[in-house]
Amino acid sequence: VDIKLERNDFDERSRCQLCGSLFELDDIVARAYTDNGDYITDVCSLCLTSGEAGIRQRLQAHATHLRAIADRLDALSREDMTVPSPEHIQVIRQIAKALL
Ligand SMILES: [Zn+2]
Repeated sequence: VDIKLERNDFDERSRCQLCGSLFELDDIVARAYTDNGDYITDVCSLCLTSGEAGIRQRLQAHATHLRAIADRLDALSREDMTVPSPEHIQVIRQIAKALL
Protein backbone atom coordinates (compact mmCIF):
# COMPACT_ATOMS: atom_id res chain seq x y z
CA VAL A 1 0.00 0.00 0.00
CA ASP A 2 1.35 3.35 -1.10
CA ILE A 3 -0.36 6.48 0.24
CA LYS A 4 0.12 9.63 -1.86
CA LEU A 5 -1.00 13.22 -1.40
CA GLU A 6 -2.84 14.62 -4.40
CA ARG A 7 -4.87 17.61 -5.42
CA ASN A 8 -8.60 17.22 -4.91
CA ASP A 9 -10.75 18.69 -7.71
CA PHE A 10 -13.99 16.85 -7.18
CA ASP A 11 -15.83 15.47 -4.18
CA GLU A 12 -16.54 17.23 -0.93
CA ARG A 13 -16.99 14.10 1.12
CA SER A 14 -15.43 10.72 0.85
CA ARG A 15 -15.30 7.44 2.71
CA CYS A 16 -12.00 6.13 3.95
CA GLN A 17 -12.10 2.42 3.15
CA LEU A 18 -9.20 1.80 5.51
CA CYS A 19 -11.19 2.66 8.65
CA GLY A 20 -14.70 3.09 7.20
CA SER A 21 -15.22 6.69 8.27
CA LEU A 22 -16.91 9.37 6.19
CA PHE A 23 -14.89 12.58 6.04
CA GLU A 24 -14.74 16.02 4.47
CA LEU A 25 -12.18 16.46 1.73
CA ASP A 26 -9.62 19.22 1.69
CA ASP A 27 -7.80 20.74 -1.29
CA ILE A 28 -5.19 18.08 -0.74
CA VAL A 29 -6.34 14.50 -0.41
CA ALA A 30 -4.37 11.41 0.58
CA ARG A 31 -5.07 8.44 -1.64
CA ALA A 32 -3.94 4.86 -1.15
CA TYR A 33 -2.74 2.73 -4.05
CA THR A 34 -1.66 -0.88 -4.36
CA ASP A 35 1.93 -1.59 -5.28
CA ASN A 36 0.66 -2.05 -8.84
CA GLY A 37 -0.67 1.50 -8.80
CA ASP A 38 -4.34 0.55 -8.54
CA TYR A 39 -6.41 3.05 -6.56
CA ILE A 40 -7.70 1.69 -3.24
CA THR A 41 -9.31 4.58 -1.40
CA ASP A 42 -9.10 8.15 -0.21
CA VAL A 43 -7.49 8.20 3.23
CA CYS A 44 -8.97 10.18 6.15
CA SER A 45 -6.78 12.46 8.24
CA LEU A 46 -7.11 10.23 11.31
CA CYS A 47 -5.64 7.30 9.41
CA LEU A 48 -3.07 9.51 7.74
CA THR A 49 -1.77 10.93 11.01
CA SER A 50 -1.84 7.63 12.91
CA GLY A 51 1.20 6.29 11.07
CA GLU A 52 1.86 2.85 9.70
CA ALA A 53 1.22 0.96 12.96
CA GLY A 54 -1.89 3.00 13.62
CA ILE A 55 -3.20 2.39 10.10
CA ARG A 56 -2.64 -1.35 10.50
CA GLN A 57 -4.64 -1.23 13.75
CA ARG A 58 -7.43 0.78 12.12
CA LEU A 59 -7.53 -1.66 9.19
CA GLN A 60 -7.83 -4.59 11.59
CA ALA A 61 -10.60 -2.88 13.54
CA HIS A 62 -12.49 -2.07 10.32
CA ALA A 63 -12.01 -5.62 9.01
CA THR A 64 -13.43 -6.99 12.28
CA HIS A 65 -16.40 -4.63 11.96
CA LEU A 66 -17.04 -5.66 8.33
CA ARG A 67 -16.72 -9.34 9.24
CA ALA A 68 -19.41 -8.87 11.90
CA ILE A 69 -21.66 -7.20 9.30
CA ALA A 70 -20.98 -10.01 6.82
CA ASP A 71 -21.85 -12.60 9.49
CA ARG A 72 -25.09 -10.75 10.23
CA LEU A 73 -25.98 -10.62 6.51
CA ASP A 74 -25.21 -14.33 6.15
CA ALA A 75 -27.51 -15.07 9.09
CA LEU A 76 -30.24 -12.80 7.67
CA SER A 77 -30.06 -14.55 4.29
CA ARG A 78 -31.01 -17.82 6.00
CA GLU A 79 -33.96 -16.41 7.98
CA ASP A 80 -37.61 -16.59 6.94
CA MET A 81 -38.61 -13.64 4.80
CA THR A 82 -41.90 -11.91 4.09
CA VAL A 83 -41.79 -9.60 1.07
CA PRO A 84 -44.73 -7.65 -0.40
CA SER A 85 -45.54 -8.65 -3.98
CA PRO A 86 -44.98 -6.13 -6.82
CA GLU A 87 -48.77 -5.90 -7.18
CA HIS A 88 -49.16 -5.11 -3.49
CA ILE A 89 -46.47 -2.41 -3.70
CA GLN A 90 -48.27 -0.93 -6.72
CA VAL A 91 -51.60 -0.82 -4.84
CA ILE A 92 -50.02 0.81 -1.78
CA ARG A 93 -48.33 3.44 -4.04
CA GLN A 94 -51.69 4.23 -5.68
CA ILE A 95 -53.42 4.56 -2.30
CA ALA A 96 -50.62 6.82 -1.01
CA LYS A 97 -50.85 8.98 -4.15
CA ALA A 98 -54.64 9.25 -3.83
CA LEU A 99 -54.31 10.43 -0.24
CA LEU A 100 -51.92 13.27 -1.13
ZN1 LIG B 1 -9.47 6.33 7.78
